[in-house]
Amino acid sequence: MMIIMRTNATQEQINIVVERVEKNGLRAHLSSGTERTVIGAIGDGRPVQLDQFMYLPGVDRVVPITRPYKLASREFRPENSIFPIDGVKIGGDEIIIIAGPCSVESRSQFLETAFAVREAGAHALRGGIFKPRTSPYSFQGMGEAGSEILMEARQLTGLPIVTEVMAEEQIPLLVQCADILQVGARNMQNFNLLHAVGRSQHTVLLKRGMMATVEELLMAAEYILSHGNRRIILCERGIRTFETATRNTTDINAIPVLKSLTHLPVIIDPSHSTGQAAFVNAISRAGIAAGADGIIVEVHRNPAEAFSDGGQSLRPEDFSVMIQQARAVAEAIGRKVAPPSHNVIAPTISHITKAEA
Ligand code: PEP
Ligand code: MN
Repeated sequence: MMIIMRTNATQEQINIVVERVEKNGLRAHLSSGTERTVIGAIGDGRPVQLDQFMYLPGVDRVVPITRPYKLASREFRPENSIFPIDGVKIGGDEIIIIAGPCSVESRSQFLETAFAVREAGAHALRGGIFKPRTSPYSFQGMGEAGSEILMEARQLTGLPIVTEVMAEEQIPLLVQCADILQVGARNMQNFNLLHAVGRSQHTVLLKRGMMATVEELLMAAEYILSHGNRRIILCERGIRTFETATRNTTDINAIPVLKSLTHLPVIIDPSHSTGQAAFVNAISRAGIAAGADGIIVEVHRNPAEAFSDGGQSLRPEDFSVMIQQARAVAEAIGRKVAPPSHNVIAPTISHITKAEA
C-alpha cells in the first residue's frame, strides 16, 4: 500500500508513519516527490489493518498499489526517475547514448573504439568482460584481465562504463571498474543475481529477457528496488517471435508501454534486437521516436574481426551517422540528445598508439 502524506507533513510525522509501518513487519520505501512524500509499505501479502495508518498526523490517505510490481509502478511514483550517470542525467528530457563493442578483446581494440565513440558524442562506454555465450566453445570474454582495460578506458576518455555481470561473485570486481552493471537478457530472472545487484546499490542496466513479458521485466526490476536501489535503467533488446529474418523482434510497443507503467528510464538496444548492422540505425530512430530515454549500441573498430556480435556492430563512421540522426529525431519530438558530458579529459587517440594489439 501507499501512505500518501499531506503536502505540509513534517519530517517527524513521516518518521512516526515509518516506525508504524516497520512495527507491522512491513518495509517502508520513501518517495519524495516535488510536492509530497509517499511511503510505500511493502509486506509479503499478509493482511494489515489500513485504518491504523489513516488517522496518523500528517497522513492524507492510504491507497493500495494495484500492480504486482509496487516500487517500480507509476502509481507509487508518478514522476520520472531521473538520476546522474557521471556528467549526464538519464530519465529526463535528454537522451543518452551508450556505445562500444560487444566484448572487450584487447587494450587497443577497446581504447580505439572508446575514443571513436566519444568523438562521435557517446555518453557512456559499453564492453563485456564476462560474456554469456550460447556455446561454451565461443569466446567467453577476457574475464578479470579485462577489468584493467575498462578502468584505463574510463580514465582516458572520462566516459562511464557499462559492463555485464553474470554472477554474484563478480560484483566486487565490477563495481571497481564499471559505473553501470548490466544484467543481461539471459539473467533477467536470475533472482539471486537480482538480489545481489540490488544490495550493491550500484546503477543497474536491466535487459528484458528474450522470452519475458513487460510485467516480468518490471517484476525483475522490483527485486532490485526492494533493496532500496533505485538506479535502474530498463532495456528493450528484442524478443523471440516466429520471425527469423532478424535475430530478434524489436518490441517497439514495449517502450511507450513501459513508460506508462513505470517511472524508471527505458532505453533500446537496436543491435541485439535486429542482429544486423544494416538495420541498427533505423531501429534506433524508431526507439527514440517511440519515447526511449537512450540507446545502447554495439560499435567495433573493425566489425569483421570482432570476437562476438560483429555482424550487428556498427563501424565508428556508421555510429556517427546514427547519432546525428538520433539528434534530429529527438528534436522532432521535442527532446534532445544530451550534449557530450563536460568531464571529458584531454587524452586522445595518440595516447594509445603504442597499445599492444
Ligand atoms: C550484450 O549486451 O552483449 C548482450 C549479451 O546482451 P543481451 O543480454 O541483451 O543478449
Ligand atoms: Mn553483444
